[in-house]
Amino acid sequence: AVVSTPQQVHYNTEAIQAMDTAHYLHPFTNFKALANRGAQVIVEAQDIYLWDSQGKRILDGMAGLWCVNVGYGRKSISDAVYTQMQQLPFYNSFFNTTNIPAVELAKALVEISPPQFKHVFFTGSGSEANDTNLRMVRRYWDLLGYSERHVIISRHNAYHGSTVAGASLGGMSAMHAQGSLPIPGIVHIGQPYYLEGGKGLTQDEFGLKAASWLEDKILEVGADQVAAFIAEPLQGAGGVIIPPATYWPEIQRICSKYDILLIVDEVICGFGRVGCWFGSEHFEIKADLMTFAKGVTSGYLPLGGVMVGDKVAQVLIEKGGDFNHGFTYSGHPVACAAALENIRILREEKIIEQVRDETGPYLKQGFDSLLDHPLVGMVDTCGFLAALVLVKEKAENIFDMQMFPKDLGVGQICRDHMFKHGMIMRAVGNRMIVSPPLTMTIAQIDEMIALIRFCLDETLADLQQRNYL
Ligand code: PMP
Repeated sequence: AVVSTPQQVHYNTEAIQAMDTAHYLHPFTNFKALANRGAQVIVEAQDIYLWDSQGKRILDGMAGLWCVNVGYGRKSISDAVYTQMQQLPFYNSFFNTTNIPAVELAKALVEISPPQFKHVFFTGSGSEANDTNLRMVRRYWDLLGYSERHVIISRHNAYHGSTVAGASLGGMSAMHAQGSLPIPGIVHIGQPYYLEGGKGLTQDEFGLKAASWLEDKILEVGADQVAAFIAEPLQGAGGVIIPPATYWPEIQRICSKYDILLIVDEVICGFGRVGCWFGSEHFEIKADLMTFAKGVTSGYLPLGGVMVGDKVAQVLIEKGGDFNHGFTYSGHPVACAAALENIRILREEKIIEQVRDETGPYLKQGFDSLLDHPLVGMVDTCGFLAALVLVKEKAENIFDMQMFPKDLGVGQICRDHMFKHGMIMRAVGNRMIVSPPLTMTIAQIDEMIALIRFCLDETLADLQQRNYL
């Protein structure tokens, strides 16, 4: 792809950083630490690259925040947004009104979703969509006369958002530790992370064991108290943790056995990320509700929602009366126009097929090739998600590898070397992650893998100097 160079604008970086420090509280940030180092000011983006205020080019291995699936600089999306803004910048859907982009997007989403989904509820984000799930499943059971079925089961180290319900549904202990979370009625089971819990078992055995924790929890809570189980097809923010092949079929069986609704959170896996429209296709999950956000607009505008399966929709529609829930920006016409154009691009450029057949397998090959690096103990890939595990000492058997002590923050050290050399890669503990724009070419994958290897070498030298090895 031809990548234009950024406009030669002079930015006063120090002044912007000072203003940032003075007034802007960043999400998930240690405010004081950021004030001391000063934020990097991102000013422009094209294709898979970003530029900062000092003219430095950065390869965006995270597609923004797992969302810029079609890459940056898509003029057709900004044109669609501009046109829609001029015609109808906003109107609500609360009072028996609708708007054309929202209707068209609802239809398009139904076309690309698994067949049980024929309805959508729009929100402004993934967190709001999971709040919607919580209210919707409880309403569903109320309407059927089972008001005691209100407990939702989730998993440790899951990420489902940052609202009170989203953070409670999520299983991030650092989030729960702030503000008395989770709220009542939400309980958690272990995650299907083989490296953490699979010692002495094959992958398949461990998948069944991790799924059995759901049944244990259902029996502990009482099946007549449980409304739903929520999970990401594979855990994204938790570290790109891919469950063994036996996990999902067993989860599905357990949910059916106890008539528990299954909510699949596709906020990261949706819109091509794993080489199909949704992770549900890859893992053959048949869910009752499906959360989406991020890739629906490739992040160009905020939008999320819940695909509502026939089983739930029928009850809400036929028996429900008013559903007392919704957001000012549910079905926002401009966000929906951006999503429609984004979906058109994904379809017409056959980007998802390209990830499935060509660039996804090539990314896997690239990550596999890093296994010869002394710091890389393991790699995991699925479509355009990839992770490598940093280890202190390698071994034949993954359970015999020596890990770095958590408090050394080796992942953060590695991430800082990546950033310094113009490569955005995220650290989750000792797992280093990428989730690149789906448009990334073979040549760009080569470029990224070479950059990662170089930064791993830099990290190795740094760790040796610190006597961490
Ligand atoms: N669910 C999952 C699986 C996510 O990864 C995220 C965001 N990373 C969310 C929900 C929350 O989405 P948002 O930040 O748009 O509220």
